[in-house]
Amino acid sequence: MKNYSNVTIFDHPLIRHKIAFLRDEKTNTKQFRELVEEITTLMTYESLRDVPTCKIMVTTPLETVEQSVVCDNAVTIVPILRAGLGMVNGVHQLFPMARVGHIGLYRDEETLEPKEYYCKLPQTIANSVAVVLDPMLATGGSASAAISFLKKHGCKTIKLMSIIGAPEGVSRVAEEHPDVQIYVSTLDRELNENGYILPGLGDAGDRLFGTK
Ligand code: URA
Repeated sequence: MKNYSNVTIFDHPLIRHKIAFLRDEKTNTKQFRELVEEITTLMTYESLRDVPTCKIMVTTPLETVEQSVVCDNAVTIVPILRAGLGMVNGVHQLFPMARVGHIGLYRDEETLEPKEYYCKLPQTIANSVAVVLDPMLATGGSASAAISFLKKHGCKTIKLMSIIGAPEGVSRVAEEHPDVQIYVSTLDRELNENGYILPGLGDAGDRLFGTK
């Protein structure tokens, strides 16, 4: 894959450790959910190092000092249904007050393009950093469509966080949205003919919600 200035691939031993267990077919639903959450929290810490901050005055027992804190409404979490839901708590661990907008997409049988079937976004989203969550960045079709949709709703700062990326999906989103920062924990080899990432972890939604 080409080097894209808007793509960050994490190469952290803690994240690699957790992803090894996430991939394992023997990992059960509870463990899988916990791992997705933990990895997301680690990714959030780094992906949001440029989060907007505000100045406040704090009085210690000794004197008053100017301090910086994360601004209200700094971050809005936008999971792509359904697997993105598994990452929400991981962001909430660090941004407990972040509002959540939901986007559901399905693939149009004729055009094969993603179409939205559900969308509920907070009214304040345009003035906040929208963090789109999709654990598997496979073809990139859904993520790219969700980002375009957020742009139509006035979002100016958008980040995408995915746990596993396929080169095809990462390249597509990086090229279609050069203004969006993309964070991927690990880059896998390729997509198979059914759109699954290899070596991957299978269907993230099924493994999160126990539907298979
Ligand atoms: N979605 C998944 O859940 N897994 C894949 O491998 C690709 C897309």
